[in-house]
Amino acid sequence: MKIGKRFEGRVAIVTASTQGIGFGIAERLGLEGAAVVISSRRQKNVDEAVEKLRARGIEVLGLVCHVSNAQQRKDLIDKTLQKYGKIDVIVSNAAANPAVDGILETKEPVLDKLWEINVKTSILLLQDAAPHLHKGSCVVFISSIAGYQPPQGLAMYGVTKTALFGLTKALAAEMAPNTRVNCVAPGTVPTHFASFLAGNESIRKSIEETTLLNRLGTTQDMAAATAYLASDDASYVTGEILVVAGGLPSRL
Ligand code: NAP
Repeated sequence: MKIGKRFEGRVAIVTASTQGIGFGIAERLGLEGAAVVISSRRQKNVDEAVEKLRARGIEVLGLVCHVSNAQQRKDLIDKTLQKYGKIDVIVSNAAANPAVDGILETKEPVLDKLWEINVKTSILLLQDAAPHLHKGSCVVFISSIAGYQPPQGLAMYGVTKTALFGLTKALAAEMAPNTRVNCVAPGTVPTHFASFLAGNESIRKSIEETTLLNRLGTTQDMAAATAYLASDDASYVTGEILVVAGGLPSRL
């Protein structure tokens, strides 16, 4: 596949980006010319991801940022500005999925954690970043197809992902006209996060069969959609949710 250079001269922050979908997004934006700022909770993971991106010729800054840590969120913004002088793109990708219980059985600390990691910290990061965003900047939230129809076992996680759809609409209005705000809703992608798939051929096959395209998604599929929304190709698109789920049912 031929990759363009839509992000030359731009600076992109991608949270939770040392593996999986976040890493794929950072790699794609970087290959298209962006300077990318990657982060996650563990220094070792940050170092390894930085090395992989540099090996592909990508300009990258790696920082430790647990999205729940206010100081680390602030550092993420401050150090990006110190090194690159601006922020063009923010991809908010971190999420937790600690529960398999039904919503009515989910304990309060788990409810709090889901709300905090999956929704609240995205808002707090944007509160820190907003004063530094300029005309033409953009935000992309990584939600989930589970936000449309919260599945059994992942129900409360799904509800937090539904909240990101609302946040996309609300912030698109609040941050207009200078900053566009959009959202990607991935289908199932075999990452560490979807570890229930690892080694379970029958679950994997049954999910593949529910898609129209007969396969799981890839991190590159999610990265391509995110790059589109973050690029000037989407300069008249804001407040939208792009479902990238192989045709899984979402909405009319
Ligand atoms: P993943 O492969 O497990 O990667 C998670 C990344 O996030 C790692 O780099 C991890 O590094 C980092 N991380 C985890 N918790 C963090 C925190 N609290 N603060 C900062 N970084 C953190 O996950 P993924 O599948 O790519 O998921 C990424 C996003 O896609 C999530 O929002 C998820 O809800 C969404 N999504 C995934 C799927 C799927 O099927 N995989 C489907 C729909 C939506 P450290 O361990 O070093 O922190």
